[in-house]
Amino acid sequence: MRFASKLPEVGTTIFTVMSRRAAEENALNIGQGFPDYAIDPRLSNSLIEALSEGRNQYAPMEGTLELREQISNKLNACYLRRFDPITEITVTCGATESLYDAIQAAVGPGDEAIIFDPAYDAYEPAIRLAGARCVRIALMPPAFRFDWDEVRRALSDRTRLIIINSPQNPSCSAATREDLDRLADCIRNRPITVIADEVYEHVLFDGRRHQSVLAHPELRERSYAVFSFGKTLHATGWRVGYCVAPPDMTGELRKVHQFNTFSIASPLQHAIARYLSAYPDAWQGLSTFFEAKRDLLAGLLRGSGLEPLAASGTYFQLVDYGAISQEDDLAFADRLIREAKIAAIPLSPFYAKPPHMTLVRLCIAKRDETLREAARRLSAFATALRPAS
Ligand code: PMP
Ligand code: GLN
Repeated sequence: MRFASKLPEVGTTIFTVMSRRAAEENALNIGQGFPDYAIDPRLSNSLIEALSEGRNQYAPMEGTLELREQISNKLNACYLRRFDPITEITVTCGATESLYDAIQAAVGPGDEAIIFDPAYDAYEPAIRLAGARCVRIALMPPAFRFDWDEVRRALSDRTRLIIINSPQNPSCSAATREDLDRLADCIRNRPITVIADEVYEHVLFDGRRHQSVLAHPELRERSYAVFSFGKTLHATGWRVGYCVAPPDMTGELRKVHQFNTFSIASPLQHAIARYLSAYPDAWQGLSTFFEAKRDLLAGLLRGSGLEPLAASGTYFQLVDYGAISQEDDLAFADRLIREAKIAAIPLSPFYAKPPHMTLVRLCIAKRDETLREAARRLSAFATALRPAS
């Protein structure tokens, strides 16, 4: 008997593929999004303390109360509203698990879910595993703006979910307050839930402010808002995230969570709670920190033939290689790995119907030396490829 796949055309994620290729080719990996610098030593010490106190057994299913209280304080500081740690906050295995659980809670067979391309790759498989259909709306470079009239046209009697991601990975764009108002207009009087993937809530550039659904009175009543300590504390490998939603929606999410991961690593939750209680502002400088990295990399690349696009947020930078090559982005990214020894992420895997574009994504969450070395290799590669003028 042939085993029937439920996700026949899903392969390995582009992030894993590129990280593997980087290792094989001994390339500098500025593809997959993860920092190459140490976490705050005070956070490491909190973990050592949690372990020496013997915090080694199951944490409560919904997350330790101490951590949910710290999350509630942090949300209050950011979005000026107190969310109830008991009924509205759930700790999950990274943002990825929050997204999966929220999708399973929100849609089922016969339903439709709208997502925006270039879409983070975890959304569609989870929607399909729930038995629902994904409707994909393409945002186009260079600005990747929403077209809310197009969203309205895509709505049907079956639409039950819209997922927005702001700041958006991989386009590096960010939703405005007007975007959230238009989204609220679209779903008013319809049975549609929103999932807001806000993992880059603290990485906005040039004085922009993050527009969270949690600060939007109409949207927060209908939304699962998803966050990640992986991004906020530079610790992607800890796999700690959380989801904030009204009590009835949280109840449904927890029904999935309890049979998915059940509960999240206890020492890690204790460590983060202790750290946030001692340093409640630990996340405050993130925009400044990453803006300096964006400026460093973009400044070094400008004029090289790999032209940086304007970035509103996230810890990524798109570059346009159109001046030096018209190859498709998969071929170009492969060439970058082999010839420039740089691993980058092509954009076409994030589109259902990829338009012709000459963009790759670079990760800026790297030490300055790494970014300088990456720019040096990229510029040398681009110079070699540049048509003689
Ligand atoms: N959503 C987006 C937009 C992301 O970029 C990421 C991770 N890069 C995630 C979700 C998943 O976050 P986590 O690593 O906490 O699971
Ligand atoms: N979200 C990370 C990125 O955008 C990758 C996470 C993963 O590999 N699943 O690079």
